[in-house]
Amino acid sequence: PKYVYDFTEGNKDLKDLLGGKGANLAEMTNIGLPVPPGFTITTEACRHYLSHGGMPDGLEGEIGEHLAALEARMGKRLGQADDPLLVSVRSGAKFSMPGMMETVLNIGLNDDSVLGLAKQSGNDRFAWDSYRRLIQMFGKTVLGIDGELFEDAMDALKGERDDTDLDAADLQRLVETFKGIVRERTGRDFPADPREQMDLAVRAVFDSWNAPRAILYRRQERIPADLGTAVNVVAMVFGNMGPDSGTGVAFTRDPGSGRQGVYGDYLRNAQGEDVVAGIRNTVPLQELETINPEAYRELLDIMATLERHYRDLCDIEFTIERGKLWMLQTRVGKRTAAAAFCIATQLVDEGLIDMDEALTRVTGDQLAQLMFPRFAATAGNRRLTTGMNASPGAAAGRAVFSSERAVELAGQGEAVILVRRETNPDDLAGMIAAHGVLTSRGGKTSHAAVVARGMGKTCVCGAEELEVDPHARRFTAPGGIVVNEGDVISIDGGTGAVYLGEVPVTASPVARYFEGEPAEDELVRAVDRIMTHADSARRLAVRANADTPEDAARARRYGAQGIGLCRTEHMFLGERRRLVEDLILATTPEERQAALDALEPLQTGDFTGIFTAMRGLPVTIRLIDPPLHEFLPDLTDLAVKVALAEERAGEGADDRDRRLLDAVKRLHEQNPMLGLRGVRLGLTIPGLFAMQVRAIATAARRVEDARAEIMIPLVGAVQELEIVREEAEGILAEAGVEAAIGTMIEVPRAALTAGQIAEAAEFFSFGTNDLTQMTWGFSRDDVESAFFGRYLDLGVFGVSPFESVDREGVGRLMRIAVEEGRRTRPDLKLGICGEHGGDPDSVHFCHEIGLDYVSCSPFRIPVARLEAGRAAL
Ligand code: PEP
Ligand code: MG
Repeated sequence: PKYVYDFTEGNKDLKDLLGGKGANLAEMTNIGLPVPPGFTITTEACRHYLSHGGMPDGLEGEIGEHLAALEARMGKRLGQADDPLLVSVRSGAKFSMPGMMETVLNIGLNDDSVLGLAKQSGNDRFAWDSYRRLIQMFGKTVLGIDGELFEDAMDALKGERDDTDLDAADLQRLVETFKGIVRERTGRDFPADPREQMDLAVRAVFDSWNAPRAILYRRQERIPADLGTAVNVVAMVFGNMGPDSGTGVAFTRDPGSGRQGVYGDYLRNAQGEDVVAGIRNTVPLQELETINPEAYRELLDIMATLERHYRDLCDIEFTIERGKLWMLQTRVGKRTAAAAFCIATQLVDEGLIDMDEALTRVTGDQLAQLMFPRFAATAGNRRLTTGMNASPGAAAGRAVFSSERAVELAGQGEAVILVRRETNPDDLAGMIAAHGVLTSRGGKTSHAAVVARGMGKTCVCGAEELEVDPHARRFTAPGGIVVNEGDVISIDGGTGAVYLGEVPVTASPVARYFEGEPAEDELVRAVDRIMTHADSARRLAVRANADTPEDAARARRYGAQGIGLCRTEHMFLGERRRLVEDLILATTPEERQAALDALEPLQTGDFTGIFTAMRGLPVTIRLIDPPLHEFLPDLTDLAVKVALAEERAGEGADDRDRRLLDAVKRLHEQNPMLGLRGVRLGLTIPGLFAMQVRAIATAARRVEDARAEIMIPLVGAVQELEIVREEAEGILAEAGVEAAIGTMIEVPRAALTAGQIAEAAEFFSFGTNDLTQMTWGFSRDDVESAFFGRYLDLGVFGVSPFESVDREGVGRLMRIAVEEGRRTRPDLKLGICGEHGGDPDSVHFCHEIGLDYVSCSPFRIPVARLEAGRAAL
């Protein structure tokens, strides 16, 4: 295979092979934008290197040829002593992983070529600054030396000065110090051979694919672990050549709101990573108009070209070398959830995309984020400062000052806000653990901002008035207010405000829209348009899991087309528990019937309320499911109570308690999820299911337009269903009520014998919670906290099968049930009511296998509607 592509050979559709950066550099090159020449080493080469522990045959030679071509084009050789070509070696995977992998700049410098560079540029300071940067980056990323050693040495030299105040002599001295660090730490000299520098840097980039922070980031973002990264070798252009040079990052639209306008940061006389790393504070991009009007106008033109070309918001990195603009990167930019909706509809209005495409540009996860609550009145809280509103949302928690501490406290169930001067990729674990991120330095394109936006995590950055002291674990706000580790603060990612103490939260405008408020602001109008389009595109109906009239009513406001699961056991708790105890304690048929008779009117009332809230829409009521002992007191508590009472009063313990204790012991199960529950209860406790069916029938007669469906849980054999069905049909006929009778498919045997079960069922509803539990043999109540973390690390699965349907295993059973069920009964109605019904990926799967509806919790209904629409495109 061909392992190396010149920028003129690639294009934006080759991301799998060239990575995002390489593919887009090629694309920009080909549309005539000013990109420094270079080439890309493919992800395929990386995958070979990682799996075989060495470079593939032929790669070396190919790199040599492309380097020679680059040298010929530039008229100078890599590291040539009197006029060196310098290159950067940059990582670039298919999916952007901001700052997670390595990049080395200024490759080709050594003790000789630094003099050539100084002479050619007429700028000693610049040459030595570039050389010290090379040793520093190379030392840290390629040779694995602790970066702080270099930073400390530089800080010691700088004293109170800025890095731009260091002169050529200072920097030359720093180079000697840095070389000393390399010698001391690695036992060898900094490699002077330019090609060796380049080859080692390429390997380091490949290796960085498996750096711990990269692995963590991929897991968080669900990026497959086996893609590998490409490597881009690019002729250097220099932003650190003096005041007429600089480097910057920009977005073609505001990634927070979608509004069009100039949005970016610029840093004069600086190179590459300085901007994102927040080393010095940047200036807003608008100031470039004053600094260099020509480059500014060219940049705006290029941004417009890119938006038209990509038909989307793009972000860019650029460098200005002595007034000349160069493009170093572009990609379709990350954006906040709000901006995603706004931009999608803006692009429709600008004629760049149609509504179908707009629907593909947003996700259910983004919609869910927009439904998050935000801060209510903040009057009672002291505002400490206002930083930049880098990633929206509202978060309150204890201030922590290191990633480790964030992870530790979050592990104890505490909400934490990670407070840093600036974040770097090593803070990733803490950012994931924290509810929000607050930094005192860096702009809206800083690492903290970009990563937080990608995660949908609240972030306020660049709150410059705060003095953050990570060693003392505290920060000081204006007015001398000190916030120590553990003190509660609240941050508003929408406004940038930082408050002392916990601020109460309120519903978001998007949530209020789903509650029925009119669509007034731009975002809500955009959501409304896209939801309307999703509803017209989707084939799947969306129902709710709800078992109170209030939940049913909310679900209906959110667009539910019925109830897919009403869990009746939730109606037996609270004060009614005693009636269930009576049922369990009954020793004669008369006692049992009396207990059931007491429950029936209550159940009738429950169903009446729900049918009323859902008038005209189908309501699937599931007969009682969980093991009975769940309604009884805890064995230990009760045993202690009985023992104490007996001790106090001889034999005088309450007789009911003693009988209860006997019942608890009798009903105790080693493995209750596999025990006496679901249809098995119905077949062993006479009258229980009949009572429920009668209550349904009575309620259905009371409410006009009630559409009851009766669902039997945990069926594994058609015989179970037939027995229950016969009794239920009798009761319904007697009451003169029509109701469909169907079953859950949540035991693997039910899926495997679906053809038979469909003889007795008018509908199936996949109970994927139990179906996953029983297919994997994973206790749904225990395993996620016990060992799923390890399983995710080991790559047994990329996401918990309780979150997203395991397509190969559980999904296979579902396919079998769909196919064989429909073969028996072509008009069999099919749905899903496990938690997966509100999970975006699972909704797509349900669409693919031909279900009729998904059912999920009321708050997930909008997400399911949106994803069902996307699935249908
Ligand atoms: C299921 O098992 O997926 C289901 C919906 O039932 P429950 O969660 O009540 O067991
Ligand atoms: Mg179940």
